[in-house]
Amino acid sequence: MTTFELQTTSPEETMEFAERLGRELSPGDVLTLEGDLGAGKTTFTKGLGRGLGVTRTINSPTFTIIKQYKGRMPFYHMDVYRLEDSDEDLGFEEFFEGEGVTVVEWAHFIEEYLPEQRLAIQIKYVDDEKRTIMLEASSQHFEEVCKELGR
Ligand code: ADP
Ligand code: MG
Repeated sequence: MTTFELQTTSPEETMEFAERLGRELSPGDVLTLEGDLGAGKTTFTKGLGRGLGVTRTINSPTFTIIKQYKGRMPFYHMDVYRLEDSDEDLGFEEFFEGEGVTVVEWAHFIEEYLPEQRLAIQIKYVDDEKRTIMLEASSQHFEEVCKELGR
């Protein structure tokens, strides 16, 4: 398993890193985002969107759970926080197995629906402006993506 870790010192830096990651992604990629409220999951997602060529503003989908954007491929942004106490299946597999890139905030709440091959991202609050971002690749494809980010 390949891991990659870095520390950012501003929201902009988090977005820039996520943008670089977004440029390396391929159709069907699934990314999970974990971290406390305010850690920077949505901020990270905004950067991913940029790297995927999304021009629309990306906002938190807390109340809609799934938002779809058009970039160089479809981009699905999920926030499944509200599903904490339910095991509702909103047709996740259709997204995970589709031609787009999917990012899931609070992914552990839908653990049973997640594909095995994914890039697990964890964001940890260090202080007001500092965050530690950890990536964990569980497939060769994502290992290569991580290697590319380290270059
Ligand atoms: P989450 O989706 O995890 O609840 P958000 O992305 O909505 O978190 O909020 C993160 C907040 O933290 C934003 O207000 C953002 O400006 C702020 N912030 C400060 N420093 C950073 C950093 N280094 N990376 C990401 N966000 C940061
Ligand atoms: Mg969020």
